[in-house]
Amino acid sequence: MQQINALKELLASPKKIMITTHHKPDADALGSSLGLAGYLKKKGHQVQVITPSDYPSFLNWMSGNEEVLVFGPKTDAKAQQIIREAEVLFCLDFSALSRINELGEYVRQAKGTKVLIDHHLQPEDFADIMFSDTNAAATAEIVYEVIRALGDEALVDVPIGECLYAGIMTDTGSFRHASTTRNVHMIIADLLHNGIDICKIHRNIYDSYSETRLRFLGYVLKDKLKVVREYNTAFIAVTAAELKEYNSQTGDTEGLVNFALSIEGVRFAALFIDRTEAVKISFRSVGDISVNEFARQHFNGGGHKNAAGGISYIPLNETVDKFVSLLPLYADQLIN
Ligand code: 5GP
Ligand code: MN
Repeated sequence: MQQINALKELLASPKKIMITTHHKPDADALGSSLGLAGYLKKKGHQVQVITPSDYPSFLNWMSGNEEVLVFGPKTDAKAQQIIREAEVLFCLDFSALSRINELGEYVRQAKGTKVLIDHHLQPEDFADIMFSDTNAAATAEIVYEVIRALGDEALVDVPIGECLYAGIMTDTGSFRHASTTRNVHMIIADLLHNGIDICKIHRNIYDSYSETRLRFLGYVLKDKLKVVREYNTAFIAVTAAELKEYNSQTGDTEGLVNFALSIEGVRFAALFIDRTEAVKISFRSVGDISVNEFARQHFNGGGHKNAAGGISYIPLNETVDKFVSLLPLYADQLIN
């Protein structure tokens, strides 16, 4: 309540606002940012969303997408200026400034009031106002609740609602993860009442594969999926050459790790992607295995208990060897 009052006071007069979210935004990152942006614009604020990198084209349908500033060498100066001049800086769907790359330092040095809205574990202490709820299913869920607490539920129209729905839908794995509470369904009921088109959103996000993406999936499942039965673990490692061969675009590897986890008996899954800068890793688990801890301890990462990510600066094959050699240390949790 204290945080809501502080935010209410802050937003009482029109402000210059910057909203940012994590590297390679997913539907929750972008949906919560654009949903919040839509709301703040309706309240008369000047709003700019800046993403630290590009994002999958299956998110381009979101309202406000055309106005997003994607950070890069060409937009660096503009981004710095916007961040410097912002009176309010919203940080959405990430809990550590390292998750927004170069923007992290700009935001750290910014003079404006920083507001964190997030659901990741172990939030860093850099914000002046914080809405951090690690039990929330999605950042979009918290954004909806913040808008409601500000008394502005009625301002959530179809475009805003569809952005928020996309975030909640994807972060709950289409309403199947344990984070899918009654509250989540109540919010969705409100959004449906407003008239959002859930069929369109599902189609846009899940049924929009390019032909090469689908063939890439086929190849990966046939040739690249490895199962370590002894430790109820499955993983996929994709080389840079394979990404090139299938003309892989941002977002084309999204969801791959879930196939590894969908094998009967598998409790721990990993996806290794050889990006040019480093090896990017996704971890997923079922039950009590904390991939947040695993990613934090061994792969410079973090996230949630059952979904986390990390990064590795050694070659792909060595990264995979390291991963496999760590499994016996977790035998207690992986076996029985
Ligand atoms: P994904 O595997 O889908 O990229 O990410 C799964 C979850 O882990 C997301 O909530 C994401 O924000 C988080 N995550 C992914 N990569 C990293 C990382 O390198 N560091 C941290 N702290 N979190 C990550
Ligand atoms: Mn999220």
